[in-house]
Amino acid sequence: MLIVQKFGGTSVANPDRIKNVARRVARYRAEGNQVVVVVSAMSGVTDNLIKMARELAPLPNEREMDMLLATGEQTTIALTAIALHGMDVPAISLTGAQAGIVTDGVHTKARIANITPKKVHSLLQEGKVVIVAGFQGQTDEGQITTLGRGGSDLTAIALAAALKADLCQIYTDVDGVYTADPRLAPGARKLSEISYDEMLELAGLGAKVMQSRSVEFAKKFGVVFEVRSSLNDNPGTIVKEETPNMESVVIRGVSLDKNQAKITLVAVPDRPGVAAHVFKAIADASVNVDMIVQNISHNADAPATDLSFTVDKPDLLKATRIIDGLKGKIGFRQAIADENIGKLSIVGVGMRSHPGVAAKLFETLAAAGINIQMISTSEIKISVVVDLTKGEQALRTVHEAFLEKQG
Ligand code: ADP
Ligand code: ASP
Ligand code: MG
Repeated sequence: MLIVQKFGGTSVANPDRIKNVARRVARYRAEGNQVVVVVSAMSGVTDNLIKMARELAPLPNEREMDMLLATGEQTTIALTAIALHGMDVPAISLTGAQAGIVTDGVHTKARIANITPKKVHSLLQEGKVVIVAGFQGQTDEGQITTLGRGGSDLTAIALAAALKADLCQIYTDVDGVYTADPRLAPGARKLSEISYDEMLELAGLGAKVMQSRSVEFAKKFGVVFEVRSSLNDNPGTIVKEETPNMESVVIRGVSLDKNQAKITLVAVPDRPGVAAHVFKAIADASVNVDMIVQNISHNADAPATDLSFTVDKPDLLKATRIIDGLKGKIGFRQAIADENIGKLSIVGVGMRSHPGVAAKLFETLAAAGINIQMISTSEIKISVVVDLTKGEQALRTVHEAFLEKQG
């Protein structure tokens, strides 16, 4: 079998953990498998590099950020190869570029354009374990790029697709995908399986156990993968296409996203084209907008409305600069940035066939005295924005109501 195994930051946090990874890889290879290993930077390294850059400039140049961040993974691939050599296992490390990962040129959030795994294939043929740096690629012009935070997941899944791997395993520091972040909700349970769509929603809504773009990719190319622990041999969670019995569960999971910020434009003139103008400018800067809420205006003489939306926290400064630049043209009164929000979401394909889920969510939050600032829904999820200080309490209360008590 050809197996792709990805190990996240905590799984390679120090030489002991790397040895532990090498032992597992060696075991799979000894069973006759071809193994491709994808590793992240050692835990904390990427954050540290970002912190240092921000000490030098509040908005560091994005090409240079990629140059900087790619070093994290480059350290780990070499150490992992060295660990395997120490166990007499033939192994070789490759950067993303050497592994044939070609991306577009959107620095710090590049998309994979194509993968040519010729080199990986031939090294596997030679009997080597191939260790690929996660999170990074290269443009057609040879510029180093990175794939967005958590992007090693994407490297693993994209490689599994390109290599037509028989198995794709994502090793992390928890036993699988839980009904909520086990660090925040003590009652959280490990799921044995979850659909791509549910995983995609949870990932996009703050459950950082999988990068959401990697799940999108897996769904598109039908890559079935398992999320499991690098610290034990317990079976993990299988992520795959939805099966009919999955709809019998109303809510699969709950998540809390603390990484969003809210921008409110106060007293925006209520006329056609304003929203288009605002969001075009934001999109042109590659800033993702998530929730958008706009009120209807009541004053017919001078129609004006408030417009609120959320962006990823790291993009807040970039977004507020863009908005400030539009002030003269659009003529809103003021822009308010608020970093103290949390987005709580419940997700489940069963919502399609079970009414009353939203009502129950709002009742649960009301009973706990938690105020809702924004609401958005889709077919299989409901999200609410609450005050950040209430976020974890909200998560636990909602998890209890939907996933611990029956009914
Ligand atoms: P890695 O470094 O292996 O990529 P991450 O830190 O990116 O690991 O993701 C694993 C973490 O995701 C866990 O430690 C856990 O705290 C968090 N997490 C958030 N939501 C969930 C969830 N629903 N199920 C499992 N883990 C979750
Ligand atoms: N090291 C990168 C990050 O911290 C990529 C990853 O861990 O997947 O975001
Ligand atoms: Mg991760």
